[in-house]
Amino acid sequence: MIAYLEHFVHENDSDAMLQQEDEETASRLCQAMDLQGTIDYRSTGYAGKDFGGLHASTPFAVIRPSGSHDIASVIRFASQSPNLTVAARGNGHSINGQAMANRGLVLDMKESSDAGIDLIRYTDGYAVDVGGGALWEDVLRWCVSEFGYSPRSWTDYLGLTVGGTLSNAGVSGQTFRYGPQTSNVTELEVVTGNGDTVICSDTQNSELFFSVLGGLGQFGIITRARVLVQPAPDMVRWIRVVYSEFDEFTQDAESLITQSEGESFDYVEGFVFVNSDDPVNGWPSVLLNPDHAFDPTPMTRFDNPVLYCLEVALHYNKGNCSTTVDTRVEKLLGRLRFMEDTQFQVDLTYVDFLLRVKEAEKQAKANGIWDTPHPWLNLFVSKTSIMDFDRFVFKKILKDGIGGPMLVYPILRSKWDERASIVLPEGEIFYIVALLRFTNPYQKSPSVRDLVLQNQEIIQTCVRSGFDFKLYLPHYNTEDDWKQHFGDRWLWFVEMKSRYDPMAILAPGQKIFTRHD
Ligand code: FAD
Repeated sequence: MIAYLEHFVHENDSDAMLQQEDEETASRLCQAMDLQGTIDYRSTGYAGKDFGGLHASTPFAVIRPSGSHDIASVIRFASQSPNLTVAARGNGHSINGQAMANRGLVLDMKESSDAGIDLIRYTDGYAVDVGGGALWEDVLRWCVSEFGYSPRSWTDYLGLTVGGTLSNAGVSGQTFRYGPQTSNVTELEVVTGNGDTVICSDTQNSELFFSVLGGLGQFGIITRARVLVQPAPDMVRWIRVVYSEFDEFTQDAESLITQSEGESFDYVEGFVFVNSDDPVNGWPSVLLNPDHAFDPTPMTRFDNPVLYCLEVALHYNKGNCSTTVDTRVEKLLGRLRFMEDTQFQVDLTYVDFLLRVKEAEKQAKANGIWDTPHPWLNLFVSKTSIMDFDRFVFKKILKDGIGGPMLVYPILRSKWDERASIVLPEGEIFYIVALLRFTNPYQKSPSVRDLVLQNQEIIQTCVRSGFDFKLYLPHYNTEDDWKQHFGDRWLWFVEMKSRYDPMAILAPGQKIFTRHD
């Protein structure tokens, strides 16, 4: 069986070879791997694509594991071949083929979350156990409906898996307070590249724990995570205000994220938009409810190419009377220097707030722009470089917008655990910059190639200007670039790889290490 597969993994085999498989092969593979789950080597197309739509690959087979046992069996099976690789695929929402295994085995991890049954008491709080393939949107609904509790740290969009975001970081408007999602798990179950199933935490097998968090899938496959939770509020007031000047926007955002809890909002984000009436990139993108009356006059007074929107949210419970909420919001907004008459707000349930991007997903699917390519670029830019980033990138290169959100908001480095694999710029405050490009097949717009080139131009601008920055959800093609990315963490990263996945079987789509014997 291994010999048969080796033919497949050699790139120069003819396509006819790919046709040779039959039902017998599947059942022989299942037996050889001792699988309780299923294997599919015909309908594998979806696992050769991702949300980015920029890369394609041909996996040999997609396996739906029935548990950690299957995952360990698949990895051990692959280790008997000199070439075979294994990629965990969460929801395939990567941009650059990170969850793919060309001519390898893809583990389809996605599952609905029903792993935990109880709230687990943890030091001075509670946690829940969830599967590595659980979608965060299921974790949210399940935690709130079962216990009235909720994880503390989120991503903006929740159609992502627990293992997929923990392999990167997982950031959103709560990160300033609780750190990324990687700082909000206390224990993991991981199947390493050696095929061992290991429980790890900051006190037990801690090197594996921290290397896996933000580890780009390089050291093991997360099969279970213990996620910190807290009582879920009933309601959220979601507010947007507009700034003409970037320095005022950043100073206000930074002042909000450095206040103690109770003295600030519960969520702080922001974005840049074009100073025009363009429905996608311009003033209308600030509206929280398209039915709201909208008078753009305050924004028309400025001739800046772009403006800035600070987005905040305050949690409250149904028992709070509305004047108390109004008073708290007024007090917090009263300290800020946004433009007069540019305050937009809505009240919605906590669950609807966290699922807010789901509505945008539905619309994008209806408009045909969810399935087109997304050449996204995500960066962490240090506070020391963000003013120049605005000057050179937002105000010049991106002055006409990108057909989607251009997020920019500050986060605090001290909320990140430096022992995890993620690399960050220097300094306590840095900004996430997320250029979430959408391409419309029905409109005349720059080609995907031009957009990728524009991303490269932005990175080159950062390098040439000496900005202190790191790519988030990084994508590089050469070892030198990866070395540069990890900086003084590179040797540690390599050492962890040699310990937990010495044959480089896992996550080949990240293109960091090459499979070897
Ligand atoms: P995949 O793309 O399937 O996998 C990503 C990587 O993780 C691959 O290398 C894969 O092999 C590995 N992997 C997957 N599952 C496991 C596992 N169980 N164990 C070990 N390795 C595994 N990110 C944010 O931080 N904040 C946001 O607000 C945010 N919003 C987003 C909105 C959209 C619409 C999209 C498309 C992406 C967004 N992201 C955001 C980025 C997202 O967090 C990453 O792309 C994430 O990796 C996607 O999760 P996934 O489950 O689809 O993972």
